[in-house]
Amino acid sequence: MKKFVIFIGAISCISVRAQNLMTPDELNASRGINFDAVEIRVESISSDLHVLFGVGGNVLASIGSQGVLIVDDQFAPLVPKIRSSISALGGGEADFVINTHWHFDHTGGNPLMGAVGSWMVSHINSRQMMTETQVVNLVTALVEQSPYMDQALPVITYEDQMQFYFNGETIDLMHFGPAHTTGDTAVIFRGSNVVHMGDVFNRSGYPFIDADNGGGIDGVILFCESVLQQIETNTIVVPGHGPIGTYTDLADYVAMLREIRERIAILIAGGATLQEVISARPTAEWDEVMGDPQRLLDRAYASLRE
Ligand SMILES: [Zn+2]
Repeated sequence: MKKFVIFIGAISCISVRAQNLMTPDELNASRGINFDAVEIRVESISSDLHVLFGVGGNVLASIGSQGVLIVDDQFAPLVPKIRSSISALGGGEADFVINTHWHFDHTGGNPLMGAVGSWMVSHINSRQMMTETQVVNLVTALVEQSPYMDQALPVITYEDQMQFYFNGETIDLMHFGPAHTTGDTAVIFRGSNVVHMGDVFNRSGYPFIDADNGGGIDGVILFCESVLQQIETNTIVVPGHGPIGTYTDLADYVAMLREIRERIAILIAGGATLQEVISARPTAEWDEVMGDPQRLLDRAYASLRE
């Protein structure tokens, strides 16, 4: 009898996944995104370092005497616009593209970047994820990311940390274990005193944690704390999404996540279901600023239950 129940459960699970599975293009269409209408907005941090906002992950561009290095490249349809923004800032094609992680909204430009000879760089786990089909459980949708063609894959990877010496400064790529995904990189521009956090730090609402692919709330907290130890109190902190922030913004974010994590852990220890955790409103005092907490609670609950 028990086997029969498990069998039925597996079938219904598969059918739910099939119903909700969408491509990144379908997800963008469902969100009403029209790439033709998107304009890239540039905020310059210094004469050499600029943040490009469009749709998808924030792009950080180092444009200097040795060439162009960018962190993340959004979506393929935006690459021509990203290129013209870089050109207006005095740069040519990107020599290097660092992928903070493998998600499609940060790496969608890779095929076009690779086609003109840009070298992609990522954590070893992110490259591995890009070689295979992945399903990202956004809670409100399941997005299927297809394997990347060879020219879109990172050609250089690292495990714990690596350095670039480019455009007059040291650039540290650092990995502190599973967090938003299992392949996150913080990119610290030591001379400019700027860090790009990828999606481990989100300033467009509560963070998304890719718990089905090895991410977890404990790892997000640990990753952010590790970065805080690496940077200065006056370091400029670029999040994966949302406006440019500060050391204090990152520290406040960590404090919030620690508190929420503790509340959820206590509820789980008391036997609470996901629905009971949501009903207990463990994020209540932040919701007005941060928005709907359901996706965070769902993914944090999943990662703490493992
Ligand atoms: Zn992401």
